[in-house]
Amino acid sequence: MAQVPLSVPRPAPLPACDVRWHEGNVDRAERWKRLGQRGATVWFTGLSGSGKSTIASAVEELLISGGRWAYRLDGDNLRHGVCSDLGFSRVDRSENARRVAELALLFADSGSVALVCLVSPYEDDRRHARDLHEQAGLDFVEVFVNTSLAECARRDVKGLYAKARGGALANLTGVGAPYERPTAPDVELTEALDVAAAAACVMSAVPVVTTG
Ligand code: ADP
Repeated sequence: MAQVPLSVPRPAPLPACDVRWHEGNVDRAERWKRLGQRGATVWFTGLSGSGKSTIASAVEELLISGGRWAYRLDGDNLRHGVCSDLGFSRVDRSENARRVAELALLFADSGSVALVCLVSPYEDDRRHARDLHEQAGLDFVEVFVNTSLAECARRDVKGLYAKARGGALANLTGVGAPYERPTAPDVELTEALDVAAAAACVMSAVPVVTTG
């Protein structure tokens, strides 16, 4: 894939001060070659409790065991820090996805496999994340963790579905807020797969490192 600098214009305007992109001394191709790595972003989308974090963790373990630099950018974890000022309105969810896409872009450029676990219910936000990567010449793999609402509610890992049923959570994705299903994901996982099988499917879609 062609190497394009990350300095490509972002949709958001730059702040009203003089900022400019500072290129490093080592370009992406050289960095990946020297490190023996290939960066990419794997973006897991699906309902809460669908298995994004669990499957991404299994993929992370497999990649690291194989000598690949991989790191999870987990929505809940990022809301502890970089996204801690955001809530769950339509606007905040989009801003959340935008920030995570920008973080993933940097991880991928650095040579890491960024494993994004984010409900990311809106098609536009996922499209934006893909566009950002494609414009920069970076691989982007969308994984739809297609676990049914009934199964997610049965698991109810965080008790959110019970909360929604009790009327204490109005905007839970798939219940009181929309989930726009991906129309052309690169990988689609169903609940019929166990975690190991799901991780293996994802692994087969992660771009391999090529040397030389
Ligand atoms: P999400 O990140 O999508 O909110 P989590 O990974 O936090 O979901 O939770 C999914 C839960 O479902 C975990 O407790 C996991 O052990 C369980 N689970 C059961 N079967 C599967 C499966 N086949 N794939 C993924 N997770 C599964």
